[in-house]
Amino acid sequence: MESEEDQMEEPIPAIALPVVTEPPKIHRLHESVVNRIAAGEVIQRPHSAVKELVENSLDAASTSINVVVKDGGLKLIQVSDDGHGIRDIGTLRKMQYEDLPILCERHTTSKLSRFEDLQSIKSMGFRGEALASMTYVGHVAVTTITKGQLHGYRVSYRDGVMEHEPKPCAAVKGTQIMIENLFYNMTARRKTLQNSADDYPKIVDLLSRFAIHHINVSFSCRKHGAARADVHSVATASRLDAIRAVYGVSVARNLMKIEVSDDDPSSSVFEMDGFISNSNYTSRKTTMVLFINDRLVECSALKRAIEIVYAATLPKASKPFIYMSVILPPMHVDVNVHPTKREVVDPTSSSPVATTKDSSMNASASGIKSQKVPVNKMVRTDSQDPAGRLHAYLQVKPPSNYEQSSSLTSVRSSIRQRRNPKESSDLTSIEELIDDIEKNCHSVLLDIVRHCTYIGMADDVFALLQHNTQLYLANVVNLSKELMYQQVLRRFAHFNAIQLSDPAPLLELITMALKEEDLDPECNEKDELKEKIAEMNTELLKTKTEMLEEYFCIYVDSDGNLSRLPVILDQYTPDMDRLPEFLLCLGNDVDWEDEKSCLQSIAAALGNFYAMHPPLLPNPSGDGLEFYKRRKSSGSPHAEENISKDAEDHVTNDGIEHELVAEAENSWAQREWSIQHVLFPSMRLFLKPPTSLAANGTFVQVASLEKLYKIFERC
Ligand code: ADP
Ligand code: MG
Repeated sequence: MESEEDQMEEPIPAIALPVVTEPPKIHRLHESVVNRIAAGEVIQRPHSAVKELVENSLDAASTSINVVVKDGGLKLIQVSDDGHGIRDIGTLRKMQYEDLPILCERHTTSKLSRFEDLQSIKSMGFRGEALASMTYVGHVAVTTITKGQLHGYRVSYRDGVMEHEPKPCAAVKGTQIMIENLFYNMTARRKTLQNSADDYPKIVDLLSRFAIHHINVSFSCRKHGAARADVHSVATASRLDAIRAVYGVSVARNLMKIEVSDDDPSSSVFEMDGFISNSNYTSRKTTMVLFINDRLVECSALKRAIEIVYAATLPKASKPFIYMSVILPPMHVDVNVHPTKREVVDPTSSSPVATTKDSSMNASASGIKSQKVPVNKMVRTDSQDPAGRLHAYLQVKPPSNYEQSSSLTSVRSSIRQRRNPKESSDLTSIEELIDDIEKNCHSVLLDIVRHCTYIGMADDVFALLQHNTQLYLANVVNLSKELMYQQVLRRFAHFNAIQLSDPAPLLELITMALKEEDLDPECNEKDELKEKIAEMNTELLKTKTEMLEEYFCIYVDSDGNLSRLPVILDQYTPDMDRLPEFLLCLGNDVDWEDEKSCLQSIAAALGNFYAMHPPLLPNPSGDGLEFYKRRKSSGSPHAEENISKDAEDHVTNDGIEHELVAEAENSWAQREWSIQHVLFPSMRLFLKPPTSLAANGTFVQVASLEKLYKIFERC
């Protein structure tokens, strides 16, 4: 990077800038320029125009809304409804009433007259900007007829004004608005839109969302000239029928109803109902349809929170379908925070209802507050975010010490409590061991673990974490080992079971472990000795089966076969390749005499077994691929031992054993998934990091964003 001095010494460019002698004069922009700038903001893309037009139709109490689109909306957007229409010419208290002439002027609306009305606004529009904006960036034509009229009127608009007097014409009930040549006068916008993906899928998506919320209205959306509509819904009394009509049977069949409400005025008044997908639903993409007070909004934090819950709960990492309708008191919702009203904010509770700035570090800050965070302190993610800001509404009377914690936390711990009703056991040594954990807890590390965000794996063992403005490398093997150990003690005698599909013979496994330990596998003499040791260990463990089963859910039958292991973290099973080592460790390393150290050493052995070690097969995505090549060509005895005849048949011409590579890829991917979705969320909830982790290289601070900012801000 060049220093400032270097930059200053750079030669003066050949084309010198004009010498400015006087400050430039400030002048008032022409109204049409102002309007066109504002229009570009309200109507950002064709689908935002469609949203405005459909919302107008809904505000006009329509029961049928039909949309036709040509060229992704750039050539034509036509929205026809059967609503109350627009007043053309009429008399009221002997005054001439004319709405059509001012219809497309900026800030003309029938929905709001005083600012205070915003607090109780029920209509979707209120700024009187949408139609006006459209006339500055496209050609707008309106046909409308009101109740009791013999004919309708048609009129076209340009730059906010009528191009001609309204012309009488035949019309069907309601209003039809046509926008042609959108962005005809904004070359850059038109170009990017033409180059970027067509807006039509977005328009279809938008209409689908409206159709499943406003089920008393029938919707259709089709391409101009197409015989078939891409969205077609009829008014119905059943939301599920509407979802079926729009999203298909496969979605509707796999949904569960959700409903929550809280009518305690001292905390919050809130109602939520909707549908979410069950475990049979599979999709690679999340569909989240969120309406707050009948406004279609987006809430990335809530979406992410739900995705995390699904990912952590369902074994297959399928993305959910969510339809949610939230009703809040109108005064809790500031609908005026976003130019396209895509986001709304709850101003009273510092909890944005449906908006979040992803770059904001302050978990409770609204979009406006977040601007106060100095730029060098802004971080990309926020560990509290996944909880979603609806937390305040989801909990009935949250106890004060819970206020900081997320709804996710409470959901998880309630599940935990249900599964393990008795949290602690009556053995004093277990209580002592748990006390030791508490006493030994390092408060700084605890804060990091509680509030960090997982970024990704930096290598096989270290994960990259972000905590406030700091970046850390954290050893996931050490962390998971400690977490498992602590959880064994906490779940002591209350484990759920992992049932092994094939019971595993202790004797063979321990013998295997002893052989693996030995550096000289050829020596037969030692084999006998190993078998003896294995036998002794097996016998020893057989005498302990009752205790192992009752306290640790390790079940060994009378034939010496292991058939059950404990669930230490939900959604996680240990790497069975490490089972022999674990059994050997149980036999060899456990002190069976003293109660406390016995329980402690078994918990430690389980911790080591369940820890998220790197899989035994090397990672094929890095240098590890060599391993899968070398095996065939070198034919070293050690390699051959591992390679099955069957697998060898799958070695292709490039000398890589693809099936084994696939297996390795799978175990690495699985491990990374578990680290992200099981280890980190559980660590946040349960881990009390002992002081030893602060000194043994488990955490390494690699960077501080503030310092990085100092380096990069000048780039
Ligand atoms: P807003 O919706 O914020 O009031 P718009 O520019 O979208 O502003 O619309 C201006 C006015 O035009 C509305 O207040 C409404 O009275 C009228 N209007 C627009 N579209 C329709 C429609 N489809 N049916 C009836 N009235 C409409
Ligand atoms: Mg409107």
